Amino acid sequence: MLLNDNSKNLYEKLELAKKQLKNAKSKAEKIALSSYICNLYDLIRLTSSEFVSPGFKSIYGTRKNIYMCDKKIDEYEAKMTKDYVAMKDFHNTFFGELYRKIGQARRKIVEDEYAPETELSEDDVYNILYEFMNKIGQAKYFDKYVRDGRIYSIKVPKKDTSLGSTVFNPITKDSDVFLVDIDNKPFFMKTLAHEFGHVYDLNHFDDDVKKFNKYFYQSFNAEAVSKTFERLFIDFLLENNILFDEAKDLLFDIHNENFECLMTAYIISLIPDVYLIDGSYLDLKKKKIYKLVERHFTRKNKIDKFINKRENFEIGDKYRYAYGDIYSLILKQMIKDNDYKLDCLEEFFSFRSESFSPDMLDRLGITTDKYVKLYKKDIELLKKQSD
Ligand SMILES: [Zn+2]
Repeated sequence: MLLNDNSKNLYEKLELAKKQLKNAKSKAEKIALSSYICNLYDLIRLTSSEFVSPGFKSIYGTRKNIYMCDKKIDEYEAKMTKDYVAMKDFHNTFFGELYRKIGQARRKIVEDEYAPETELSEDDVYNILYEFMNKIGQAKYFDKYVRDGRIYSIKVPKKDTSLGSTVFNPITKDSDVFLVDIDNKPFFMKTLAHEFGHVYDLNHFDDDVKKFNKYFYQSFNAEAVSKTFERLFIDFLLENNILFDEAKDLLFDIHNENFECLMTAYIISLIPDVYLIDGSYLDLKKKKIYKLVERHFTRKNKIDKFINKRENFEIGDKYRYAYGDIYSLILKQMIKDNDYKLDCLEEFFSFRSESFSPDMLDRLGITTDKYVKLYKKDIELLKKQSD
């Protein structure tokens, strides 16, 4: 069975992590373990309806630990914002250029009806995923996760849009994957490929827990590898003619999602520093955000609508996905050019824990022109026939 719905093992992992928290050797370990425990609790809750909340203290340990973790995480986030503001001109130019260039290329995409869904058995789903993982040298690994029952089925409230999640214990390096079992199987498989990207990414951390925390709370790099896996999976389907029309729909979806990320990143970079530095931008009304940025756009109605539709404009969250998109398009191509071997991710791994610097893009040869070139190649299949 692909999805495990028995959370018994997870409770054992939770108890182990609590013991580890008590014996933690450093502040960094305490923070990483507390966040692991907290995430795991949240996800166990979603695996069954019988879950009883254990209470705050049971999750975070002592009151002192709660204060310490809160304070430290605030520090990380403050540093992230400070670094962001220092680099804001760069982000502004970068995403401004992409917004204009991609916006033009996107007009050629046909907005068609979605393809009808193919009925797939659980075996079909397993086999397709196995073949994909095999292509990127991860089949044994994937198989082990399935056999060990480490891919769990969760139920999320309707308005929750997240369909997958991965937790990772930085001390034992143990990870589990959680997925909503949706009917749309190509989408389900794409989500699982994304989560396996997280697993692969996290498994390549050494024992430096400080770096691990920085990567989570300070860097914009935590969605790069997961998004790379997503893109590789879609290409795999298209190139092997597996569920071709549905794969095209997946490609259409991720291009829309990613464009939203780029546009949001651009809008944030237009908000004056004063609102960003003290975090007050998070409380700004949508109308006010529109007022602050509208002079940079010609199609004002469209921007007004776009801003209104966004849930939030949180820097960390939005830039993780925006740069995740940038990296993933480039990394995907690198992996394909390298005969689908993932070791070309090593360069990315060497700087992924650091705060953003343009040097990171340079090291992977990323420029807006290169991104646009690959982007155009990527949407070739989605274009109007006449173009
Ligand atoms: Zn992710």
